[in-house]
This record gives sequence, structure tokens and C-alpha cells, in this order.
Amino acid sequence: MDKKQIANPVSLKDVKIHDSFFSDIMATAAEKLIPYQWKALNDEIPDAAPSYCIRNFKAAAGMLEAPHGGAVFQDSDLAKWIEAAAYSLVWKPDAELEKTIDEAIELVAAAQQEDGYLDTSFIIERTQERWTNLKDWHELYTAGHMLEGAVAYYQATGKDRLLSVMRRNIDSIMTVIGPEEGKLHAYPGHEVLEMALCRLYEVCGEEKYLQFAKYLIDERGREPNFFVEEAKRFGREESLKRGGFTLQYYQADRPVREQPYAEGHAVRAGYLYSGMADVARLTGDDTLTTACRRIWRDIVSRQMYITGAVGQSRIAESFTYDYDLPNGLVYGETCAAIALAFFARRMSRLEPDGEYGDILEKTLYNGTISGMSLDGQSFFYVNPLEVLPERCEKNQQYAHVKPVRQKWFGCACCPPNLARLVCSLPEYIYNTCENTVYVNLYTTNDAVISLEDKRIGLKMETRYPWDGEVTLTTDTAGAYTLALRVPGWCRDWTLTVNGETAEVEVVRGYA
Ligand SMILES: [Zn+2]
Repeated sequence: MDKKQIANPVSLKDVKIHDSFFSDIMATAAEKLIPYQWKALNDEIPDAAPSYCIRNFKAAAGMLEAPHGGAVFQDSDLAKWIEAAAYSLVWKPDAELEKTIDEAIELVAAAQQEDGYLDTSFIIERTQERWTNLKDWHELYTAGHMLEGAVAYYQATGKDRLLSVMRRNIDSIMTVIGPEEGKLHAYPGHEVLEMALCRLYEVCGEEKYLQFAKYLIDERGREPNFFVEEAKRFGREESLKRGGFTLQYYQADRPVREQPYAEGHAVRAGYLYSGMADVARLTGDDTLTTACRRIWRDIVSRQMYITGAVGQSRIAESFTYDYDLPNGLVYGETCAAIALAFFARRMSRLEPDGEYGDILEKTLYNGTISGMSLDGQSFFYVNPLEVLPERCEKNQQYAHVKPVRQKWFGCACCPPNLARLVCSLPEYIYNTCENTVYVNLYTTNDAVISLEDKRIGLKMETRYPWDGEVTLTTDTAGAYTLALRVPGWCRDWTLTVNGETAEVEVVRGYA
């Protein structure tokens, strides 16, 4: 692959959104959701199920004595909060919030063990059970999320405290898992570490992290199958026969390059495919690019709702089969639509094509933000397209569908995930490649964009999505290409340059 075709995002620091749509949602996330989540992490919300998250870190650091509380992956809630808060600091500086994050990071550092290990569930209790259930116990998942938080905070503030903690953590993981003799030939039961490692590689440039990401992807589903062997070793063979929780649930029934369609748990799947697209882009591995394209085609042509929601089935929160898209029984977890947005964005960096922007737009305006009310106080986990309140109440098959948004969830994965997506939205608008600016989304913003040999100022004005007219103004003369996505839904369009109608060619969805 010609590496020069690879596109880069324009940094969060260089794009300011000030439209009448996303900026309200971003403000709600920063002003309501992030403070609310911090209270939730500290068990300070009356009438809500406790999170135990901060208490767990304090117990792991030896600052208090308490059993581990919450899910085995509870640490990831703090990680996602740090990540979202870090993005918000870039466009809404807040010294008080930054101090709170610094204190939270010190707590994480204090909980880290001598050998670099960091997972409160296995520090407070079950010390002997570390790395004995990669399939279901989420140690690599929490590491992945904390690493994403660390990279985001470093990029936002230049502070590398959490990044150093996480590099030590990843280095320790790499002494346990890897291709070498004596290590576990393993991979995450819940993906996310793959794309986090690619981000780490991109900020620090250390090849070993990219190679580890590639290893986790290459090893997945190979024979002898790690999850099967692990289950046998610890007498848990039955765990792979439970309804819905087969190897397909984990995208581990065959090597990723042989997987013909999107399968299994939809959030796991979307994170895996995002990691695959990152590794394909960074290594130039065409076989992986081909696999990404095949799975992309399957999702967007055969397993996606009109809202960009994915993961049709409540059972195992999973993909099912082609064109099985019931409107009432739909699952469509908010996190799964977010994972699709991640995948779309990464595909657009791997190979510029307007279709990736089309799907990104679809899911950003529909399947993701439906997960939060306009006041940021209530949330959908499941995003139905058809709701009959009486049916939800009286027919158990529909018990997962809620007629109104909920205050919070026992498994509160979606609200913090949504926060990190909307707080990083300015990064989703443009990609650059050599002297071309790819415009993927239309929303009013000001940007300063670095190209190969120049920096250009760009101002975009539009009432999108209420109106399709978009005006772009630049203050920078000189030769460069603006590639404007022609939205897939748009049949009639015109382009004028300085008031004159311009005839332009459309190449892979871009004018
Ligand atoms: Zn979720």
C-alpha cells in the first residue's frame, strides 16, 4: 500500500465547532455529564446504584479497606471519564476540572503495583487469579480504556504522568502475553486495547506497541484457539456453550482475515474492526485492509439500521444475520453505534472514501446521540426504532426496550462512552493527506489545518442538519485541494467558487 494515501485527522486543538447543534451537545457533556459522572464514580448520587469505582482505586492503593465493588471492568468507567474530560479541556479549559483529573491520576498511579500491574479487581481480591480468564475478566479491556485516557490527557495537557503509568502497565502485560515461548498466546476477551496501542504508538513512536497491537489482532481466532485452551485449563468448558456466548460472540471463532461478516457482541466487534483499520493503516497490511472492507460492507449494507444503530439482538447484545432488522425488538446499544462511528472514522483515514463520512454522519446524528437527553440527565442504553410502552411493560421479550430515557444503569458503559465521543467531535470533521483537505462532516467551525508545506485557515458556515447550504471561506492563498464529501443522501447539488458555478469531478464520494 502507498503509505502516502493515509490520511490524518486535524487535531482537536485546531478545530473549533460553534454551530447550533453539536456545540450544545458538547456543552451539555462538559457542563452536566462530566460533573455528574464524577459524582457517580464517587458514589455521591442519591438513589443511584453505587459505582464503587473511586473506592476500588483507593482500596487498591491501600488508602482504605473495602471489598471490590461493581463489575470486573469497573475501572474502565474512570478511564472513560478521564478521556472525555481531557478532550473537553481542549475546547473548554477548566482549571478546577484539570486539578480533579490530576488527583484521579495520582490515585491510579498509587494503585499500580510494583510490577506494573493495574486492575483493582485483581489487586484488592483474587490476586492469584490474574491472567487466568482473558476471555471474560476484562483485564486487557480496562488497560485499553485507561491507555486511551492516558493518551488523550497527554495530548490535551502535555502531562505524561498517566501515560508513564500506562506504559509501565503495557510493558508488564507484554511480559505475560506475546508470541514468545512461555508467554500466553492470548488476546482480549473484550477488544479496545488494539486501537489504544495504536494511539500509544502514534504519540511515542515506539514500534513495539504497534507490533503488540498487530499481534493481538493476528493471534485472534487462530488454532489452537486460546479461549478454548484457557477454558479447558481452568475447567470452564461449559462457559463456551452458554447461549450466545460462543467463540463467535468474541469474534474468535476464526482468524480475523477469514471472518466473512460482522458477528458476535456488537461493541466488541466494532472495537476490533477499529483496531484492525488502525493496524492496517499503520503497517500497510493489505490483507487486513481487505478484511476491514469486507466487514464494513457487511455491516453497512446488511446489518445496520437506518439510524446507524447496530447489534440487532438483545441476546448477547450481538449482530445476527443479513437484513434481520426488527424495529421493536432492536437492541442497538448506544456503545455499538459509537463503535461504528470509531470504525467509520478509522476507515476514512485508511482510504479516503465519502461513504465512510456518510455512515459517520448517519450514526452521529442518529444512533449515538439518541443515547442522551438534551439536558444530559437521562440516557438510552437500547435505542429502539419503534416503542409501544404497554408492550415493553407486559411482554418480557421487549423488557430491554425502555419507553423513556433512564437516570443511570447498573452497567453504565454508554453515558461515559457518549461523553468521550461528543467531546472529541471537532477531530471528526477533517482529514488531511499531503496537500488535500478531506471534509467529512459539515458543521459550523473555524479550523487551522496543517498541510505538507502550508497551514491554512478555514471557516465553515452552515445550518446543517436543518439546511444543506454550506459556505467555506479560506484566508490562505496557494495551491491545495479541498475534497468535499458529497453526502450519499444528496441527489442534487451545486458548487460555486467565488460566486461562479464550478464543474468538478467526484472521486470516491468527494468533489
Ligand atoms: Zn454501552
